[in-house]
Amino acid sequence: MHNATAQHDSPTRIIVIGAGAWGTPAALQLQDRGYAVTLIERFEAGSLFASSGGSSRLWRLADTEPWRARMLAGTVGAFERLGERVGEPVFRHTGMLWRDVPSLPAARAAIAAIGIAHTEVPADEVGNFIPGLRPDGRDAIFVPDAGVVLADVLLSRTLAAFVAAGGTYLPQTEVVGVSTAGGLATVALTGGAELDAEQVLITAGPGSGAILQSLGLDISLTPYLEQVVYFGDPLQRPPAPDLPALFDGPTDAVPGIYAMPSGGAGYKVGLDTPLRPLAGGTLGDDLGRAEVPERTEVIRARVERDLTHVTPTVLDTQVCTWTDSADGDYVIGRVRPEVTIACGDSGEGFKVSALLGELLADVVTNVPVDVELMQHWSPERFAADAPAKTGPSAMGRH
Ligand SMILES: Cc1cc2nc3c(=O)[nH]c(=O)nc-3n(C[C@H](O)[C@H](O)[C@H](O)COP(=O)(O)OP(=O)(O)OC[C@H]3O[C@@H](n4cnc5c(N)ncnc54)[C@H](O)[C@@H]3O)c2cc1C
Repeated sequence: MHNATAQHDSPTRIIVIGAGAWGTPAALQLQDRGYAVTLIERFEAGSLFASSGGSSRLWRLADTEPWRARMLAGTVGAFERLGERVGEPVFRHTGMLWRDVPSLPAARAAIAAIGIAHTEVPADEVGNFIPGLRPDGRDAIFVPDAGVVLADVLLSRTLAAFVAAGGTYLPQTEVVGVSTAGGLATVALTGGAELDAEQVLITAGPGSGAILQSLGLDISLTPYLEQVVYFGDPLQRPPAPDLPALFDGPTDAVPGIYAMPSGGAGYKVGLDTPLRPLAGGTLGDDLGRAEVPERTEVIRARVERDLTHVTPTVLDTQVCTWTDSADGDYVIGRVRPEVTIACGDSGEGFKVSALLGELLADVVTNVPVDVELMQHWSPERFAADAPAKTGPSAMGRH
C-alpha cells in the first residue's frame, strides 16, 4: 500500500457510506489524496447503535493464521501514521496475554514466523503478567506490543481531520439503496434525495446487508448484539489498575472472555458470546441496546473469580453490534466498477481500522494492493456456495 495522488482521469467524487472504524479512516485517506469525499452516516460517527462506539478495543497483534498475523503486523505502522496525521496517538501498547489451549501452538508459530516478540508464560506465572489473574492450569503467551485501540479518540480525531481537510460529512442521513448506470453510482437517501458519485465505498457495518441487497448482492452477513461491562472502584481515579489486555479462551466449563484497560472508564470485560442476532439480519429498526442484567452478572462473577486485582463493581455497560461473515473473515473488494464493499467485520475489525483506511483508499482508487489479503477477503469467495453458518465465529479460534 502507498499513497497515490488523484490523476486527471481518476474519479473525483467518492461517497463513503458509514462513519465507523472502517469508513472514517478511509474517507480521510481519500480526501487527503485529493478526491472530493462525502461521508454519509445514518446516526453519528461511533454511534452506539452500530459497532464502533465506546472508548477501547482489543488490539491482539496475534492470530493463528500466518497470513492474518502478517496483516496484523502491518497495523502497527498504520496506527502510527494515522496518529501522526490526526495529531494524537490512537492506540496504546499495553501488552496482551493470550491463554487458550487449542489455539496457542498455532498463534505462537504464526507470530514467531513474522517476528512479533512474545514471551512464553507457564500456567502458574500468568499473575506476573496480569497481576491478580487466577492461574487455571493453562499456559499462555504474552505479546508486549499488543494493546488497546483508543476507539473514541481514533474516530473523533479522524472525523475532525476529515472535515478540516474539506471532506463533506452528512450525519443523521440514511442510505436506502445504491445503483449504478453509465459509469456513475447513485446513492438513494430516505426522503427521496439522491447523490451521484464516480465511486462508492460501502462500510455500513450491520447496515451493509440491506444496502448490498439493493445492488442485487446476497452476501451472507449475520449481525449480532454483544455486551461489555466496565469494572473498577468508583472512588478511585482511574477506577482500575492499568493492567495489560487479556484473551482468555473458552474451556468446557466457561465461555471465553476478553478484557482491556479503558482509562477513566475502568477495566472493560466482554464474554465472547453474542446476546442475539439482529432482527431480520440487518440494522433496520432493531435499535434496542439495553443491558442484559444476567449477562452483566455472569461477567461480574468471572471478574470476581479470575481478575482479583480489579474491583468487581459494575461502572457501566455497553451493548453494540458486530457482523459475522459466513467464514469469519472480512468481506472486502470491488463488486461493481463503481462500488467497493468492506463489511463482515466478524467482531474484530477495530484493530485493522487504520490499516483498512489505507487499503480501502487504494482499492477504491485502483492502486495495486496486497494480492494475498484481497484473495482471502474477496466477496467472490462466496460466489458459488457460501459455507453453511453454524454459529458466531469464536475469537482466536479461526
Ligand atoms: C462488544 C463488542 C466488542 C468488540 N471488541 C472488539 C475488539 O476488542 N477488537 C476489535 O478489533 N474489534 C472489536 N469489536 C468489533 C469492532 O468494534 C468492529 O469490527 C468495528 O467497529 C466495525 O467497524 P465498521 O466501520 O465496519 O462498522 P460500524 O461501526 O457499524 O460502522 C458502520 C456505520 O454505518 C452506519 N450505517 C449503517 N447503515 C447505514 C445506512 N443505511 N445509511 C447510512 N449509514 C449507515 C452505522 O450507523 C455505522 O455508524 C467489538 C465489537 C463489539 C460489538
